[in-house]
Amino acid sequence: MVQKKLFTIEFVAQILLKRGLISKEQYREIILKGDIQKAKLQKSQEPLSSRRFQPYIVLPAEVISSFNIEIPGKESAILTDDAITEAIAAEVKLPYVKIDPLKLKLDVVTGIPRPFALRHLIVPIEEKDGVVTIAVADPFNLDAIESLKHTKEMKIRLVLSSKNDILKIVREFFGFRASVAAAEAEMPTGTELGNLEQYFKLKEHGEIEATDQHIVTAVEFLLNYAFDQRASDIHVEPKREKSFVRLRIDGVLHYIHTIPKSIHPPLVSRIKMLSRMDIAEKRRPQDGRIKTNYKGKEIELRVSSIPVAFGEKIVIRIFDPEVLLQDLDQLGFYPREYQLYNAFIRRPNGIILVTGPTGSGKTTTLYSSLKTLSSPEVNIVSIEEPIEMVIEEFNQIGIQPAIGVTFATILKNILRQDPDIIMVGEIRDKETAENAVQSALTGHLVLSTLHTNDAPSSIIRLLDLGIPSFLISSTVIGIMAQRLVRKICPHCKKERMLYDEEMEHLQIVKKPIKVSYGEGCIECRGTGYRGRTAIFEVMELSDKVRPVLSDEIKLSTLYDIAKADGMINLRQAAIRKMLEGITTYDEVVAMTG
Ligand SMILES: [Zn+2]
Repeated sequence: MVQKKLFTIEFVAQILLKRGLISKEQYREIILKGDIQKAKLQKSQEPLSSRRFQPYIVLPAEVISSFNIEIPGKESAILTDDAITEAIAAEVKLPYVKIDPLKLKLDVVTGIPRPFALRHLIVPIEEKDGVVTIAVADPFNLDAIESLKHTKEMKIRLVLSSKNDILKIVREFFGFRASVAAAEAEMPTGTELGNLEQYFKLKEHGEIEATDQHIVTAVEFLLNYAFDQRASDIHVEPKREKSFVRLRIDGVLHYIHTIPKSIHPPLVSRIKMLSRMDIAEKRRPQDGRIKTNYKGKEIELRVSSIPVAFGEKIVIRIFDPEVLLQDLDQLGFYPREYQLYNAFIRRPNGIILVTGPTGSGKTTTLYSSLKTLSSPEVNIVSIEEPIEMVIEEFNQIGIQPAIGVTFATILKNILRQDPDIIMVGEIRDKETAENAVQSALTGHLVLSTLHTNDAPSSIIRLLDLGIPSFLISSTVIGIMAQRLVRKICPHCKKERMLYDEEMEHLQIVKKPIKVSYGEGCIECRGTGYRGRTAIFEVMELSDKVRPVLSDEIKLSTLYDIAKADGMINLRQAAIRKMLEGITTYDEVVAMTG
């Protein structure tokens, strides 16, 4: 057991200085301003209402990390709460643990009372072979550790974790999981919801209401957790015995929760209620929206419910304006492509096409382009299927093919509304293509997408749709193909040499090449990736390309002219991201195969 010491800012600052994580100058600043900073943090954490028993303790690590200190000798590496906690752990000879919520069990974590856990920043994370592992944020909080010993009647193994991690776990476990467990406990006993008959029996006894406080809390926690994890989608899927909750993070689905089947219907009802769907309607697919807030910014959720074999499946798509609407230069462009594309969208009229498969970030590019162009003097109209995110500056129209309101019909009628710039969700038929060409010829700038693999093949697609080459030549300004590649997690980034076969596969010159990859850590859920960036292939219909266009032109000819004109293809752009240590070899191969 560690010796009782004073867990002060000075004590921790000394550890950091000794380990070279701060400079002498930074040390002096911490000592000088530490107490004032601590008082500030203390004030910001004061309970807003009297409902919370008392403020959390402000620990030295969070005071020091709030200075956002740059680690000496490491460019733009900021000294984080985690890094400080890790240094303290090494100093007091306790294992440092970054807590992974997925590996924890509800009954272990909630084995101590919540107020105790919050007051002392202490949480049990594992019980195995008569030993309970306890994560603490303050290694010298011996009284609390002592009193746990008496209640637990087990051997105690101490580990050090950051206050943030511990608070997150306590909130999450006493939140979503406890709410689900509490709601389940309210169910009439002896009811299994494996089949329909029992379901109706249960209904007679009274189903849990969607307004049940535990269900309300569970949904709130589920949404916040998804935002926390930067998820783009939440899936709530009923199976025969259980229901699964999965989150899509950086394009990949992860299992997050297994919930009792009995909780599925009220959980779904609550979500449907929030998204203003008809709760009684369970046989027909429905759509809805939720507008909510997270950390002071507005987030829009598009919710859909679809009846499947074992109940209603809910998918919530999360539209984070910071992802969907970015500055164009934040998307991942290289200078040449950025300049070309930026010049395209500044033209007064013509057609710009963005191409790629579903999920390649086309919508983000289009929204971000329109946002760049939007001003009180221009009338921007977008025709979408469906409207992905409501943006006030644009006039957005959703298509409804069931009643004959299609891209083509709206496009034809929209010209009467005097638009300057028109975005058409997708060109997939002759009529839409012809109307887009017509709009461009009459002085409008048209932005749209095509479902093709690369830029040159979009010309072939337009020819296939029946647009003659002379009209393509006189209207299309340029075409941009794009993909999203996952970025390597900065927390577990490692380097290696590229193998010979890999170099051969990418057809790059044989000399030793260093590349990076993510080993997998808790920050990235073991995937080695965190976040995504886009790669672009931009083809301009330049004076070199136009004269060669004909109705019979071959795809291979188009590739050749584009290449001669200086086009960098998707594979080359991806390789460049790999060489810069932004993405991996695997990702290059997977996304530009
Ligand atoms: Zn990682």
